Amino acid sequence: MKYSEIMVRYGELSTKGKNRKDFIRQLGKNVRQSLQEFPNLEIKAQHDRLHVTLNGESSSAVIERLSGVFGIENLSPSVKVAKDIETIKETAAAMVKEQFKTGTTFKINTRRQDHDFEFDTNQLNDMLGGYVLEHVPGIEVKMKKPDITLRVEIRLNGVYLTSEIIPGAGGLPVGTGGRAVMMLSGGIDSPVASYLAMKRGVKLDMVHFFSPPYTSEQALAKAEELTGKIATFGGNIQFIQVPFRKIQEEIKEKVPEGYLMTIQRRMMLRITAAIAESRHTKGIFTGEALGQVASQTLESMMAINDVTTLPVLRPLVSMDKEEIIRIAEKIGTYDLSILPFEDCCTIFTPPAPKTRPALDKSRNFEKLIDVDGLVKEAVEGIKIVDVKPNEKFLNQQSDVFAELL
Ligand code: ATP
Ligand code: MG
Repeated sequence: MKYSEIMVRYGELSTKGKNRKDFIRQLGKNVRQSLQEFPNLEIKAQHDRLHVTLNGESSSAVIERLSGVFGIENLSPSVKVAKDIETIKETAAAMVKEQFKTGTTFKINTRRQDHDFEFDTNQLNDMLGGYVLEHVPGIEVKMKKPDITLRVEIRLNGVYLTSEIIPGAGGLPVGTGGRAVMMLSGGIDSPVASYLAMKRGVKLDMVHFFSPPYTSEQALAKAEELTGKIATFGGNIQFIQVPFRKIQEEIKEKVPEGYLMTIQRRMMLRITAAIAESRHTKGIFTGEALGQVASQTLESMMAINDVTTLPVLRPLVSMDKEEIIRIAEKIGTYDLSILPFEDCCTIFTPPAPKTRPALDKSRNFEKLIDVDGLVKEAVEGIKIVDVKPNEKFLNQQSDVFAELL
């Protein structure tokens, strides 16, 4: 079926009363950004729906993009035909036929915006229903919960037929929930946490700590490429890379081994908070889940959280690893996350970090290093890259094996 338009229905928006206008404007903007690469599209956001006119662009490619945009409840490809009853009948039958399997039931649901059209909705339902019954052998009419509901809309500028409802990503349009900083590693969890933060409408900036030469160019490229994947759900993302080697070396030299990890994490969070505040963002997201590793006990979170009063939000906090992996696979980050390039944390993790670090000890051991000077230097050394949806950063596959050998 050659579709002419995709009809996009809004999700939770409809319950948001006076914010509705802003939500629709933001969703329209996000949809335009995610469809940048299709130059012929026309996108019109209306109060109850958004219409994407294809003008010859591929409906399946556009649908794939749209189904990742937060704030969309569902979408339906539709065919626009002339206001000519014979054409409407033939198109209706062709659409039903395309989805027909033995035992399929259907009904016609007509809406009429153009009240001057020669037939009313009842007449149209009867005529089209009759035509489909005659031309699709074996099909039956069913009024309650049919397999196919063929919607026919008689608008002023033409007739639109649609029969499929494709689920959207749900959630809220990115940008309507404020702005926050995400601590992004190259692992499995933080990309999933990013996705979930964005699903609630939050616009993210990524902060990534790296430690050359202990960590490779490819480890950095992996985090950037993950950012590109995540950008497909809400548009360009600023990727902020923070040099962390000097801090890690200082800590390793001066802090007792049991507290290496806790102090490193406190420094990371402190720097992230400084970056968040300088950009006037209102919170920090991480990929932590309770009980996964030593840094992720309640005691440890308390000892680390001590360095900032910004809210630290952890969308994965009570998820099982399997649940997280399932989402990572769904959003297309899993295969990247499992590439074997170590990030800066793995490399400086001591064999036996304290799982229940004490807050007073953490504070005391930190006095052994120049906290303020190191934070300042790291913040001054950041580099910001604007990452586009699906932008690539990694070298070819062969390098993966080179590192593995
Ligand atoms: P992930 O799979 O996200 O790496 P993890 O289960 O490996 O998480 P940790 O390595 O302890 O757990 O990291 C916990 C969280 O700390 C990460 O989810 C991320 O938010 C943050 N983090 C870890 N390493 C970095 C890094 N190099 N840069 C920025 N944030 C990081
Ligand atoms: Mg990790």
